[in-house]
Amino acid sequence: MTTILCRYGELFLKGGNRHIFLRALANNVRAAVRDLPEAKVSLPHGRVVVAVADQARAEACSRLERVFGLVSISPVASVAADIDAICAAAVVEAQAAVERDPDLRRSFKIEPHRSNKQFPLQSHEIACRAGDAVSEATGIPVDVHNPALRVGIEISTQATHVFAERRPAPGGLPAGVSGRAILLLSGGIDSPVAGWLAAKRGLAQEALTFHSPPFTGEKAKDKVIALARQLNRWQAVSTLWIAGFTETQKRLRAAGRPELAVVLYRRMMVRVADLLCERAHCGAIVTGDNLGQVASQTLTNMRNIEVAGRHLILRPLLTYDKVEITALARRIGTYDISALPFEDCCSLFVPAHPATAARLSDVERAEATLDVAKEAADIAEQAERIVL
Ligand code: ATP
Ligand code: MG
Repeated sequence: MTTILCRYGELFLKGGNRHIFLRALANNVRAAVRDLPEAKVSLPHGRVVVAVADQARAEACSRLERVFGLVSISPVASVAADIDAICAAAVVEAQAAVERDPDLRRSFKIEPHRSNKQFPLQSHEIACRAGDAVSEATGIPVDVHNPALRVGIEISTQATHVFAERRPAPGGLPAGVSGRAILLLSGGIDSPVAGWLAAKRGLAQEALTFHSPPFTGEKAKDKVIALARQLNRWQAVSTLWIAGFTETQKRLRAAGRPELAVVLYRRMMVRVADLLCERAHCGAIVTGDNLGQVASQTLTNMRNIEVAGRHLILRPLLTYDKVEITALARRIGTYDISALPFEDCCSLFVPAHPATAARLSDVERAEATLDVAKEAADIAEQAERIVL
């Protein structure tokens, strides 16, 4: 069996919500590893510990690196609470670490943590004994102030763990603790990143995408499904709603001046998202809006779009630069999917010069030519639901 020690941030654990956060984190960790062979999750004091069969070690680590609320993880050697066993494990772990990254050969330090006060040696003595063993076996010099390699030894009443590898996890809050939201997910670069950021602050989301066949093909749909699946690997979205938009989009396009089209489409998307919020018990809508990026994202138009709905609209990317968004998209694994050429429905029937400050009265006059509430209800009713 492989044991993986998972550390969570301390900040969110202050106050009375501690047990709620911890329970959510443990549930999310369980969900991440549930289907791996012999997976077991426990919560000794201050840590989440995952055990899996050895052959699932790499997969378990890569999944745990995507669990919000965890700040780092370490695959550990579990040994007997015995100083000779600890020293031997420290040598093995240090050797494995410098093999992975020869730069760590510069210097090392032993970092003991002894919460089992029955253990016969004090922390300082443990550090000396293990330090001697490691420097003798590897020749790496000790540097207690600025070590390249840190070898951790944790001795608790339940177990003794030795490790030299720490992989960063994303931090944030466990997905779900901040509530639920509908993510407006397009095939673009921005909205997947917005969904990831919202999940990082504890939102559980269902994604909603608008699709206009035959103008947008199967490949455009598959692209959004692939994006949703990638977000699901981060536990950021659980479900994807695919809403047919073709006929409504045509009617909206014909309802007013071409420059208003983008605002009319977006307002309809918000109405449909509103209905799904009610159906799926969500408290907010998340979008990839980015201030000033395109015509629909001016102050006036964002305001005119949000007043079509009743729910809070969250825009995690509002103030990001494109380079920052792109870097995040690469890091979370959505960039290459978003970069595929297939256009989503909003590049359809869009004029060369959409209004940057559509007048609300003009927009409402255009909408008055059709029954927007019924259009939204029909779209929501007929939306296809994919559980990811
Ligand atoms: P993105 O890269 O996320 O598509 P964008 O910069 O292209 O964003 P817009 O096309 O104006 O900007 O879309 C703004 C937001 O509206 C998107 O981030 C997304 O949240 C939502 N949206 C746009 N098109 C769709 C769609 N077809 N389905 C669902 N939501 C959409
Ligand atoms: Mg877009």
